[in-house]
Amino acid sequence: MTDTTRACVIHAAKDLRVETRPLAQPGAGEVLVRVAAGGVCGSDLHYYLDGGFGAIRVREPMILGHEVAGRIEALGAGVSGFSIGAAVALNPSRPCGQCVYCRAGAAQHCLDMLFWGSAMRTPHVQGGFRERIVVPAAQCVPVGDDASPAEAAMCEPLAVAMHAVRQAGDVRGRRVLVTGCGPIGALVLLAARDAGAREVIVTDVIDEPLAFASRLGATRAVNVARDAAALSAEARDKGQIDVAFECSGHPRALAQAIELTRPQGVIVQVGIGGSLDVPLNVVTAKELNLRGSFRFHEEFAAAATAIATRRIDVRPLVTASLPLDRAVEAFELAADKRQSMKVQLTFA
Ligand SMILES: [Zn+2]
Ligand SMILES: [Zn+2]
Repeated sequence: MTDTTRACVIHAAKDLRVETRPLAQPGAGEVLVRVAAGGVCGSDLHYYLDGGFGAIRVREPMILGHEVAGRIEALGAGVSGFSIGAAVALNPSRPCGQCVYCRAGAAQHCLDMLFWGSAMRTPHVQGGFRERIVVPAAQCVPVGDDASPAEAAMCEPLAVAMHAVRQAGDVRGRRVLVTGCGPIGALVLLAARDAGAREVIVTDVIDEPLAFASRLGATRAVNVARDAAALSAEARDKGQIDVAFECSGHPRALAQAIELTRPQGVIVQVGIGGSLDVPLNVVTAKELNLRGSFRFHEEFAAAATAIATRRIDVRPLVTASLPLDRAVEAFELAADKRQSMKVQLTFA
């Protein structure tokens, strides 16, 4: 008799179903994990709301989810260093380990990456929103018993934020701007603080996430839609910001980061946008360092340590937890930026 598990499957835009899938036994080097919590990410939401983003479309049923944590339920042959019942965060990224980027230590650029819940390649890579999942032990990172599964499931987005902060170089004593205060913007705020930033100014175009940012320790939280002139003092003498993290993907936010960042300062583009109209002349004239940041690599383990020890406390970010059966409701709630920071699914 085959074992089964229930999973949260996207078929097309607004067609999200809870379905039963077969469950294998863990093979050599694998473990069986009982999933406890899984965060709904911006990309999951794009699949749900629009059926994908840009050229990346859902072309076949795909289990969503890449922000997942749980407990080990069974060990496959040859697995050591893990015990049954251990709490683990699941690293959704499976680089090939062979290609030129993997060998260079930049596995986020792997040429043969398998990243959970992604329609970037066909067949799509199935995700982690399922009650139980068999994974390579190498993708399990212990998080200890002090942090809850909800916190452990924040390892992936925190790793994204820590990777972005690392792109900026040393931020100790720096004045930082974060544009866009969704979960990634909020986590960049926490990660920049953790890395020693002196001040963090956060902007958004709606009030609720900004109130959130203030509670999380932002020096200032500014609604740039309502109060466009609020940051004009930061533009004086060619800019007062040392490092900007653009987390919205919106052209006006990047333009403002370019305006406010001082000559030779750093702008890290974290948010994903399309083709933007950017004042490149200012980038040139101020000798700005405009850098991208994509996913993460070794930061996943660093995020797990920060969460396990609560050096970075992610608890306030989880604004709702709904059981798998209410997945559609959870996704609708996650899409409401006035109500939600991070919405998670819980699994039986
Ligand atoms: Zn994510
Ligand atoms: Zn590779």
